[in-house]
Amino acid sequence: MYIDIYGKKRQKLGLHIHTTRSDGRKTPEEVAEIYKSAGYDAIALTDHWLYNGFGEINGLKIISGAEFNVGGNDCMEGVYHMVSLFTDNDPKPERTNTPAEIADKIHRENGIAVIAHPAWSLNPPDILAGMENVDATEIYNSVSAVGESFRPDSSLLVDMTANRGKDFLLFATDDTHFYEGEDNCVSYIMVECDTTEPAALKEAILAKRFYATQGPEIHLTRDGNNFRVDCSPVKHIYFATQAAWTVRSAHGEGITSAEYTVRDFEKYVRAFVIDADGKQAWSNIIRV
Ligand SMILES: [Zn+2]
Ligand SMILES: [Zn+2]
Repeated sequence: MYIDIYGKKRQKLGLHIHTTRSDGRKTPEEVAEIYKSAGYDAIALTDHWLYNGFGEINGLKIISGAEFNVGGNDCMEGVYHMVSLFTDNDPKPERTNTPAEIADKIHRENGIAVIAHPAWSLNPPDILAGMENVDATEIYNSVSAVGESFRPDSSLLVDMTANRGKDFLLFATDDTHFYEGEDNCVSYIMVECDTTEPAALKEAILAKRFYATQGPEIHLTRDGNNFRVDCSPVKHIYFATQAAWTVRSAHGEGITSAEYTVRDFEKYVRAFVIDADGKQAWSNIIRV
């Protein structure tokens, strides 16, 4: 548990992690130890086509999870990876299901449906924008920056879908497989919540009371057309909307705030920051 710059309690969550139960290289017990040592308050074990329920391993809270891929292997056209979180039971999708059908099954079990690593999968923005019942996406997933993998950053697709009117909740995750330091304990979300009780965490996430990060703290707030970022000391602060050619960033050593006033045609605002070590944090999207 962390206390943020406003004095509020935050829980550190890893929401996309593989173990030896599928193609991850550490056992659930080893994974719990690794994440607990890195200060995480709860994690989800999201093995491929294998439901891991709620519980506790080595003193670390476990959120229920699984990952379901449909449409083929790797990054062919039509491939979608869906991460299921917080379901009461196995949502039991089938390999012939569409992402919308999987999201329906996740919701029937009171879960959160996530379209995973859309940039890695090369998911087309028009199809993503039509995923009305999918709650969240991964703006960044660590494993896609490791080795021969590719495209960890999905922020371009987030802007393309937001421009088309679809605002996903924005997660940063590890999608951990290798546990050699580059894909474990790198990207996570910080949820404003007093406890690690799953129901409370889920409610806070659905209410957008969290940010995604690799270390820095970021808060995007709004007062009319004025948007403001408050953050831990960083080097760069950016506001992203669909507009180009506009002054919407601040740069300096150890800066902790910036403001941006939207114009009439701007549809949404999100923000991200980069600290002196190159670590990023991402806000959620606010519709103008
Ligand atoms: Zn995947
Ligand atoms: Zn995965």
